[in-house]
Order: sequence, then structure tokens, then C-alpha cells
Amino acid sequence: MAYTLGNALIYTGNSLINNGYVTVDNGKIAKVGYMDDFNGSLNKDLKGMLLMPAWINAHTHIYSTLARGMKVDFHPLTFTQILEQLWWKLDKALGPEEIQISAMAAAAEFIHNGVATIFDHHSSPLYVMGSLEVIKRAVVDTAGMRGVFCFETSDRDGIQLKAINENHDFYSKYKGNHLASGMMGLHASFTLSDETLEATSKACEGQIPIHVHVAEGLEDEMDSINSHGLKIIERFDRYELLNRNSIYAHCIHTSDDEVKKISGSNGFIVMNVQSNMNNSVGIPKLSTFVKNRAKVAFGNDGFGFSPAFDIRLLSLSQKYLNGTPLAFSNSDLKGVVDGTYELASKHLKEKFGRIEESYSADMMVIDYFPPTPITFDNFYDHLFFGITESKVNSLYVNGKGVMVDGRIETFDESEVKMESKKVAQKLWEKL
Ligand SMILES: [Zn+2]
Repeated sequence: MAYTLGNALIYTGNSLINNGYVTVDNGKIAKVGYMDDFNGSLNKDLKGMLLMPAWINAHTHIYSTLARGMKVDFHPLTFTQILEQLWWKLDKALGPEEIQISAMAAAAEFIHNGVATIFDHHSSPLYVMGSLEVIKRAVVDTAGMRGVFCFETSDRDGIQLKAINENHDFYSKYKGNHLASGMMGLHASFTLSDETLEATSKACEGQIPIHVHVAEGLEDEMDSINSHGLKIIERFDRYELLNRNSIYAHCIHTSDDEVKKISGSNGFIVMNVQSNMNNSVGIPKLSTFVKNRAKVAFGNDGFGFSPAFDIRLLSLSQKYLNGTPLAFSNSDLKGVVDGTYELASKHLKEKFGRIEESYSADMMVIDYFPPTPITFDNFYDHLFFGITESKVNSLYVNGKGVMVDGRIETFDESEVKMESKKVAQKLWEKL
């Protein structure tokens, strides 16, 4: 049924409408305009709040949700030791119960932060087959978000062939679906043997996009060069894995040539600067990606849930790295944000990122009342300095009010939080 939200400040992605309305019909935006030209009755008065396209997180790890506050014996000297001492312990303890509640708790947090779509990279080596379906049921069917899911294929636990099958089956099942989709998940070059890459290539048949960590730690790139005589992206290319619309997360220690190969294959580099700084692995350089014409998007690598922090850190990190406040502009920021919309559009076959007719009604309402004049030209200044500090009031995904006036409508959030605390406690005791 069609409905209209009105009296909003609307950022369409292409213009700014002061006091406008949006009519939504069947999950799509049907009409956008000024209130002065609107004759019907409003279904909801937004009382001057800001309405804009919802966020997309292009790389995350729902499986890390229950780690918040967890204590393990942690004294890493390298990036690989961070994985060994923390994440590779946690993921082996995950079964369907932990995965399901991680997904629900994560969905609650994403929704409160205006995230409509996630690209999740999952790992649970002792529960592989069916794990992506568990996450999809929670995030998409129950919480009402969209998601593109994959399982982290890796040789480290001997489950690589199962993982390839899980990815392949999930991808095939949801191909063409607008709410959920799949990719071929790979951990990183340094935990993947040539045999596994060969098997992955066979399963992908040049069609299934891969979702992989690339040169997050320097040791990943060094391992590829020393053990295989090739840089990481050259190695993936040898196995014909650089399929279009693939995700290469991080790319901190990649060379210009590797970035060019990503760019030439229509892949996306996804930056996750908060996580990189937290792990002390270095900072990716956006100018290298832009110079080599790579498509760039941003994610968070499972670090928190608010894109506002990622946006701020992304900008600050580039200014710090390059030693000049001119190193990251509003158009750089818009480019990276638009990169997420393009990526999601390719995978879910919908139009995202604009409040315009025929686009998906994936929108958020933000409690933002600017203290200075706002125009289309200075919108990204407001976004960077102010909108990122304002609360998301409502989130609509595929036209459905998933959160309205701060209350999640699709599930009982407090019940989920109570349950996730219990499951986390049990999980921590196992480790
Ligand atoms: Zn990651």
C-alpha cells in the first residue's frame, strides 16, 4: 500500500529539497516533491527532520558480535597473532545458536544506525553447511534488512571444500533475489593453498564474485610473494578469480599494479580504517585507489555498527597519512559513499542511493536540525561535521518501516539483547 512521509528536509543524492515529501509504493519511491505541490494527506509528518538514503556496510563480520567485553589471553606481536589469539578461537566456538543471536543483536545495532544493507563475511569452521541460511533468516527474514552473505573459505581448519560448497549453494539459491544474495567468501591469500584456489575457481566458473581480505597485514603480501612468487592479486588472477563485482577488503599493502588489476576487473576495494587502526596494520591510501581508477566503498570489518565513525575516521586517516587537510575532500567522501550504493546495486539488482522515483525505498530519517544554512553544495560538510553526530530516528528498507521513531518494529529488541547476553556468557566460558 502506498504511503507518504512529508514535511522533511530531503537529501535526494542529487538535490536538496527544503520541506518536501516522499511517496512510497510497493517498496519503491513513487514520487518526491515539495510540500507546496502536495495535495493528499500525509501518513507521517517528519516535522522538519532530514530524510536521506540509508547506509550500506560493504564489509562486516556479524560473527564477532558476541566478542564485545570478552577476555582472552591476548598479547599479539603480529596481525596473524591477533587472528590466532582472538578471532580464530572465537569462530571455532560458534554453532547455530550463537550465529543466530549474533545476527539478531547485530541487526538491532545496524538498524539503530541507519544501515539497510550489509555485506557479511562469516566464519564458523565447526558449523559450515547451512550457516549462511541461519544468518539470512535472522538479518533479512526477521529483522527486515538486506544482506549479501558469504562464508570464509580457508585451509586453516580443513573445511575448505565444505566452505566452497556452502558459498556456491547459497549463491545459487538466492541469485536474482533483491533482499539477499551470496558471494564466494575467501579468508585471505596466506591461509589459502593453490589446491583450494583451484577448487574455488572451478566452483565460481568466472561468475560468482569473491569477497576476500587482501594485504590487511604486510605478512599476507609477503607470504604470497615468498611462497608463490606472485603478489596477492596476481595470484588470484592466475586462478581466474577476479570476477566482476568482487570485494577486496583493506588493500593496505597492495601495489599500484594490483590496484590496476582490481580496477580492470570491475572489482571494489572496501576500506575499513577503524579496524585497521585498531589492529595497527597500517592505513590504506585512497589516493592510490583513485589514481588507478578503482571503485572504492567503505565497510567496518566488524568494528562497531555506526557508519558515522567510519566516515569520520576515513577522512581523518587520509589527512593524517598525507600530512595535509587537503588529502580528503567532500567529493572523495561522496565517492566512497556512492561506491557502497553501486556495489549493493550490482549485487541486489536494485537502484540504491537516491531518493528519486523508481529507486528502492531504503531511507533513513535523522533527527538533524542544522544550526547553519544547508544547501546541496554544502550537504557533505553538514554530513561530516554534524549529521554524523545526530540520531537516526527511523529506517525504511524496501519501503518497510523497520524502525520508526526509534523503536524497532520487526522484532523485540530487548528480548534479543537479553538472550544474546546469556549466549555470550556461555560462549565466553567455553573459550
Ligand atoms: Zn574483515
